[in-house]
Amino acid sequence: MSVKEIQVGSAKAAPGRIGQGYLKVGELAMNAELRVPVMIVNGRQDGPVLWLNGAVHGDELNAFMAIRNVCGAVATDDLAGALVCTPVCNPLAVQWRNKINPYDFLDLDQQFPGKADGQYSQRTAYALFKEMQEVADYLISFHTVGTSFAAEPYSVYKFAPGLSPQMCESIEAMALAFGVRLNCRVDLSSAVGEVPGGVGGALDVNCSRAGIPAFMAEVGSGGRFQPEAIAIAEAGIRHVMAHLGMAAPVTAEKADQMIVTKRGFLYSDYAGFFEGKVQPGEKASKNAVIGNVVDLFADIGVIRAPSDAYILMSRQEPVLHVGDRVAFLGLEWIAA
Ligand SMILES: [Zn+2]
Repeated sequence: MSVKEIQVGSAKAAPGRIGQGYLKVGELAMNAELRVPVMIVNGRQDGPVLWLNGAVHGDELNAFMAIRNVCGAVATDDLAGALVCTPVCNPLAVQWRNKINPYDFLDLDQQFPGKADGQYSQRTAYALFKEMQEVADYLISFHTVGTSFAAEPYSVYKFAPGLSPQMCESIEAMALAFGVRLNCRVDLSSAVGEVPGGVGGALDVNCSRAGIPAFMAEVGSGGRFQPEAIAIAEAGIRHVMAHLGMAAPVTAEKADQMIVTKRGFLYSDYAGFFEGKVQPGEKASKNAVIGNVVDLFADIGVIRAPSDAYILMSRQEPVLHVGDRVAFLGLEWIAA
């Protein structure tokens, strides 16, 4: 809780003030210091510290603009608690315009809580997580889907084994408060293999384990600024701030919310050029055409929905190899 001075790296803000600075996360040859820009908006009134983190994957940038806009618009006199913002937390990956950083080929969102004497990404995770543990009461980890895909903004929240029912309740309430229509509840004890790669090192999972309720907001697609997704992310931050008692409630209407309880990728059995037939957010019936695969000479194949499904993410890139993802599907759901 704040009313007190908050410091993260060289950024420092007394109650009622805004602080800007940098958190050092690494060093490169040729005297280059790697720094994450940090913005602290410290309210005059008592309240929780909400940490807004983005670009843990370096090509996922919509939240940068949403966070920047919220910081620019919040009046510290009206704010209870504080925002701590690190919307560009993986500088090398951003520089490379890629999900991962080019020096150790590690996914930063699989490295938390980090390692002080490890590889570059592990040290970055360590430097960030140490500060988060010291100051954050709540955290939102902003992502987008990959550059080859489109998605309607959705939330993802994970229940790690061993979390208390109160913690799970708090995570779910915050994720739903974000206000988007599709919300994915991932119970890590039963959702093994739902996404490739480990989720044990994910930022949101490690925050929740450390007593900081956290969730992921997937806001649009990577590699670009999308005004609509940015506006939804901005509204989502304001909804969460209101939910945590940091700001007055936002009047904007919230969508009818669904909780997706089972997800799965749809992979291609065909190679050729993909012509997508569904929009993200849409509900597809079993056997509905997700897309056609063609080459110059023939129709190669039709990819269909394996069951009734919500389209969380749909392929936009035409070039398609066998085994490529064509969609990420919500396979089971309940009303929130
Ligand atoms: Zn991501």
